[in-house]
Amino acid sequence: MAIYDLKCDECGHQFEKYVSGFLSEDDKVCPECGGLRISQKFTSFFGSCTTGGGSGGCAPPATGGFG
Ligand SMILES: [Zn+2]
Repeated sequence: MAIYDLKCDECGHQFEKYVSGFLSEDDKVCPECGGLRISQKFTSFFGSCTTGGGSGGCAPPATGGFG
């Protein structure tokens, strides 16, 4: 389960998509204007955080300084 935080580049409408897998092109449609220019801002995954085999999306943002 994942939430895709999307934003329409045509009208600026922001919306979320709840999908059980990957976001398909069919999901990248603005519910407001029907625009197809959708920017993916953020993705939140639910469930266990698995690592390995690819770039992990569970790593927290790097905060603080070094040293
Ligand atoms: Zn739109």
